[in-house]
Amino acid sequence: MSAQILDGLALSKVVRESLKERVLSLREKGVIPRLDVLVAAHDPASLSYVRMKHLWAEKAGMTGQSFPVDENTTQQELLDKIAELNANPDVHGILLQHPLPKHLDEQEALIALGSEKDVDGISPASLGRLVADLPGFRCATPLGIMKLLEHYGMELKGKKAVVVGRSVILGKPAALMLLQKHATVTIAHSRTVDLPDLCREADILVAAVGKAEMIKGDWIKPGAIVIDAGYNKVEGRKWDVGDVEFESAKEVAAWITPVPGGVGPMTVASLLSNAVDSAENILA
Ligand code: NDP
Repeated sequence: MSAQILDGLALSKVVRESLKERVLSLREKGVIPRLDVLVAAHDPASLSYVRMKHLWAEKAGMTGQSFPVDENTTQQELLDKIAELNANPDVHGILLQHPLPKHLDEQEALIALGSEKDVDGISPASLGRLVADLPGFRCATPLGIMKLLEHYGMELKGKKAVVVGRSVILGKPAALMLLQKHATVTIAHSRTVDLPDLCREADILVAAVGKAEMIKGDWIKPGAIVIDAGYNKVEGRKWDVGDVEFESAKEVAAWITPVPGGVGPMTVASLLSNAVDSAENILA
């Protein structure tokens, strides 16, 4: 058996095309959706992710600026910048590209960001709204995963889901979103005992670990849906690899996301979609 592909790149193109129409309509009303980004000035990976986000935003007709932060940026300067962007009515979304330089307190910055312009959906205020089932911006990566599952018509109700990873930006919110769709969810982490056996019970397996190809084909239940959110650099490999060993997993799963081309592009599409929602909220 060879699994069918959950094609995040193709779906992200559809989402981004639909954004173009929404942005055009906003522009006709005098609103240009704007996503601003605070990013570590000396982190090549972050800078390249942010360049791609701005590029895709521009292609959708949106605008945005990057504000580099570095070892000389003080916590107060970071908070002041967030307050300034929060107060600017032309800015609809603010992204703190993780990781910021180590001396800066990201959680305090996210608390200052609040929920109204947190289009990445990772501030404590936004996460609280997710837990409370209140409307608000949902975390871009798990939101992208849910859009992918929905697009391919995956039935989640009553299914056993295992999410491997409990980070605030990925594992935990992904688990909550699956729970909202009536899956029965288990969250696994680095202290989970018998992880392979637990994974073998999953109808839906979400890998959000950050360990290259840790999850093997024989950890997967035949016919499962496998979502690989991992992006791992491996020396000597041209492309980043996921947390799942794709070649063995695809022989067992029914559906699987590739890396690259699965969750990554859906994350960016969901971020931009949230930013356009934010601009539309102003007119509503
Ligand atoms: P974190 O490092 O914040 O969290 C990793 C999680 O995996 C932790 O909960 C950790 O457990 C768990 N873990 C680590 N080792 C093991 C193990 N051996 N067995 C079981 N669980 C383990 O990572 P993120 O959530 O930020 O990212 C996870 C992956 O997703 C990374 O590859 C990252 O690059 C990728 N990513 C992809 C995005 C995309 O757009 N596709 C966006 C964001 C991240 P514990 O809590 O016990 O330490």
